[in-house]
Amino acid sequence: MAGKKSEELLTHFNCEKCRKWWSIGDAPRDRESWYCPWCGHYQEVEEEGKGREGERAEGREGE
Ligand SMILES: [Zn+2]
Repeated sequence: MAGKKSEELLTHFNCEKCRKWWSIGDAPRDRESWYCPWCGHYQEVEEEGKGREGERAEGREGE
């Protein structure tokens, strides 16, 4: 008997409307619009600034 392991890329999303988090394993990186599983809001999401584990990424403009 042997255990098994695997790796996955886990992407964390933060809803712009209800502000709740959800995560998707191996989410396609080129997909820009997602439904929030909490409130059902359909929204465009953008990648958060790299190198920083921002708990809040609001108020970033200019892109
Ligand atoms: Zn939501």
